[in-house]
Amino acid sequence: MCDSNNTRREFLRFSVGAGFACWLPAGIQVESRAAAAEAPGKAANRTTVYIMTDLEGVAGVIDSENWCKPESRYYEQAKEFLTLEVNAAIEGLARGGATDFLVADGHGPGAINPKLLDHRAQFARNWAPVPYPFSLEKGMQFAAWIGQHAKSRTEMAHLAHTGSMGVFETTINGLAVGEFGEMVFCASQLGVRSIFGAGDLAFAKEAQALLRGIETVAVKRGTTPGRGDECDAETYAKRNLAAIHCQPDRACEMIRAGAERAIRRAKTDTGFGIVPLKPPFERVTILRKTADKPRRIGRSSHPEDVIALLNAPLNYETLTD
Ligand SMILES: [Zn+2]
Repeated sequence: MCDSNNTRREFLRFSVGAGFACWLPAGIQVESRAAAAEAPGKAANRTTVYIMTDLEGVAGVIDSENWCKPESRYYEQAKEFLTLEVNAAIEGLARGGATDFLVADGHGPGAINPKLLDHRAQFARNWAPVPYPFSLEKGMQFAAWIGQHAKSRTEMAHLAHTGSMGVFETTINGLAVGEFGEMVFCASQLGVRSIFGAGDLAFAKEAQALLRGIETVAVKRGTTPGRGDECDAETYAKRNLAAIHCQPDRACEMIRAGAERAIRRAKTDTGFGIVPLKPPFERVTILRKTADKPRRIGRSSHPEDVIALLNAPLNYETLTD
């Protein structure tokens, strides 16, 4: 996310729109409400892949200021780069046997260009009344990530953050998670296997540390040392800009091949893609200091449902240490 004042969660909570009320199997004309309500992946020989997208982990997306905000001078270019990376993933997944694709446009202000999106895909945007799990549904077979960045506090990571540049760290039951980890928890609860992720190298390492066996592709490599723990929100937003990028067409080639490898391997090796969930759940989020607010801490808990945990409001209080 590029908005240092609002987390993705907060942004989406305030955004307006109905989103998708149901999943429509690609290429199937809906003739009745019953047909429209049919769960994904139930039809014979269909394999559905959910693709969560973000912008900061895309090859050629250089910084937030010039690339990731609606007012950025290269915003439309960045959206095109992301959408082409998504299309490359869809092509690879389709070659490996996937038939249906739901693309979640997860970047704060949105970053999918629907006109450029592969015609086999549907896309989801705006989630109400709560964001998680961002249109991911039980019955889909696999989840994948495109354009993903590492969590806040990661060394040698490009544009690392968790929800916003103002978040110092989020933990679930003591484990630090980024945007990827939060969605892996949701997917695991829904029985959807997380099999592929593309983004910067630090993200790829984060994904493999959380989910041994996940296929990853690194399209760029951050070169800023240090975790940035000393930074307030404004300063943190200006670090982690240094990176070495793949040329965007080359990045797409790598993603196409990696996505195909992922789904082919997932079909023969069913032993990866789900994290064990150990309820009850507790979430702790610490916010960085800002110009007008001190460091703050917020907690939520839930006896059994990690998705409800992520949707629960956090009542922040000042953190003194
Ligand atoms: Zn993000």
